[in-house]
Amino acid sequence: MNTIRLNTACDADFINQVEKESEQDMSLCYQCGNCTAGCPYTTFYDLPVNQVMRLVQVGQREQVLSCKSLWLCASCESCTTRCPNDIDVARIMDVLRHMSRRAGHATERRVKIFWDAFLSSVERHGRVHEMGLMATYMTKTGRMFTDIDLGMHLIPNGKLSLKPHTMIGKKEVSEIFKRFNEERSS
Ligand code: SF4
Ligand code: SF4
Repeated sequence: MNTIRLNTACDADFINQVEKESEQDMSLCYQCGNCTAGCPYTTFYDLPVNQVMRLVQVGQREQVLSCKSLWLCASCESCTTRCPNDIDVARIMDVLRHMSRRAGHATERRVKIFWDAFLSSVERHGRVHEMGLMATYMTKTGRMFTDIDLGMHLIPNGKLSLKPHTMIGKKEVSEIFKRFNEERSS
């Protein structure tokens, strides 16, 4: 069982910021643990998702924003669907990831590279171009043979396209990124 530290002064601004950005009420969490029980990645987390919730409730900014769990979360929303108090836990995890990045706490370099490559691919093509994403990820991490065995099965079956897919709404997707970047820098 993990031990969480509650010995740092409560950062009320942090709680307010998480609540504002996620539009969730942190005080509703009564630590039943249902979110953690359904989380498929909890084995790999340094802090289970219910403990992340508890640490936010008590304003432990540094401990939350530096935890590895934020970067391993798959946004599957199992925690959200299981919460008896209708808290959108997955949305809170998403908000915390953004806060962690802004604060320079992204601890998992490879996860961050993957995330950046994914978003940049969606921004450019309107949806992810898997082959381009993998090429960027492999080049930037130096992991040239990652999942090469899987790729060998996917390419002949047409699951990995050499060219980006064309799609309706590509321009609109790019506009979303543009607006986001403008708001972030203002
Ligand atoms: S399921 Fe909801 S109430 Fe229970 S610990 Fe998780 S967030 Fe808190
Ligand atoms: S959204 Fe993240 S924290 Fe929630 S259950 Fe899925 S992997 Fe776990």
